[in-house]
Amino acid sequence: MSLIGTLSLSDAQEILWDVVVIGAGVAGSVVAREAARAGHRVLLVDKRHFPRRKVCGACLNDVALNVLLQIGLSDEIEAFGGPQLNRLTLHCGSRAITVPLPGGRAISREGLDAALIRAAIDMQVEFLPDVFAKVGRINTDSRVVRLQQAGHETCLNARAIVVASGLDGLGLPNSDEWTTRIVPSSRVGAGCVIDDSSDDYQAGTIWMAVGAGGYAGLVRVEDGRINIAGAFDRDYLRRHGSPALATKSLLEKAKFSIPRQLLSADWQGTVPLTRTTTPVASCRVFLIGDAAGYVEPFTGEGMAWGLLTARHVTCFVGQAVSARQWSPAIANDWKTEYRRLMQSRQRFCRLWARLLRSPTLVSLTLSALAAWPWLARRIIERVNSHSEHERLAHECRS
Ligand SMILES: Cc1cc2nc3c(=O)[nH]c(=O)nc-3n(C[C@H](O)[C@H](O)[C@H](O)COP(=O)(O)OP(=O)(O)OC[C@H]3O[C@@H](n4cnc5c(N)ncnc54)[C@H](O)[C@@H]3O)c2cc1C
Repeated sequence: MSLIGTLSLSDAQEILWDVVVIGAGVAGSVVAREAARAGHRVLLVDKRHFPRRKVCGACLNDVALNVLLQIGLSDEIEAFGGPQLNRLTLHCGSRAITVPLPGGRAISREGLDAALIRAAIDMQVEFLPDVFAKVGRINTDSRVVRLQQAGHETCLNARAIVVASGLDGLGLPNSDEWTTRIVPSSRVGAGCVIDDSSDDYQAGTIWMAVGAGGYAGLVRVEDGRINIAGAFDRDYLRRHGSPALATKSLLEKAKFSIPRQLLSADWQGTVPLTRTTTPVASCRVFLIGDAAGYVEPFTGEGMAWGLLTARHVTCFVGQAVSARQWSPAIANDWKTEYRRLMQSRQRFCRLWARLLRSPTLVSLTLSALAAWPWLARRIIERVNSHSEHERLAHECRS
């Protein structure tokens, strides 16, 4: 069901907003809802119409599920009945391992993102879809957000702006205030969701095929469709001619079956994946989720990172709302908190991304994991650990 806006662009313009959130992906909807829950007047804006598709492996790991549980959104997740994830089957060349997963859920991004927006609206967040937004100039006690819809441009003011606009950095102005660094060898993402009534790709298992030029993950989502998402070297994609053919080649090498609609599916692509944007906070503006930085998706943590940063930034956003005079200390505190929250997670993921460039190393790693299953368990536990997050959440609240 289509999600319509809760107010018009001209009505939105009349209000001095406490918080404007640019981007209604997982990070944006959750921070909007959390800020409204804290009593702020919040506007959530997205350039797309919802439900919308998004290139993603569609796997919520344990950390992500835990954040959703903590903020009271577990019923929304349960309502999907998306398969519980209990196994990861990884193939590289002639090697293969299957390891148990401690938890997780496979839910389509069309479904999940729309449900999180609905939950934000239920918390009195105002929602404006089909509106392109950009951070604008600084006022004494607020900051401008520039909005465009169907050729019409307008501006409004907010005490705090959260940029949750995803990978392509479109919510930020082209100015010296921010710098985006893209790793030159970064892979690009591609994905699709297909109907498939075969018995292949049993629900509850993540199927990963890893090759020299990239990797692809397949999983059944809540309605039985197969979600496919991969990260590819740009050269590898060019050589194969399309993401569908690149994926087919990876699946064949892994001896996975080829879904019938693979080649005719409606594929979407992404910009290069591994990047950082700095600073993650500037005058009345906070960056979260992919907008702040992203590393190749092999460990499947992107949504958890988006949700963690959404939850943790809320107290800094509250400080910005209360500050009539902007204090750079608020920005510095979010930078420190962001680093504490993300640095080791992103470093760990970057390590995997590097390892994946060498099929020989991957093959050796798979042999080691097959010989010492406890090692695989430790790695999976590391990705799904939320103890550090709990500690930080506690500090933030107190
Ligand atoms: C191939 C691949 C596989 C992945 N697999 C997984 C996985 O299995 N599990 C996992 O947890 N993560 C995975 N990820 C990562 C995950 O998809 C992202 O980390 C996550 O979606 C980030 O959420 P976000 O809210 O920051 O951004 P997004 O979900 O990208 O949302 C950003 C929103 O901002 C909107 N927007 C952008 N610019 C503007 C603008 N100027 N004005 C208004 N709106 C704007 C967009 O329309 C979009 O709706 C994967 C990523 C890729 C590429």
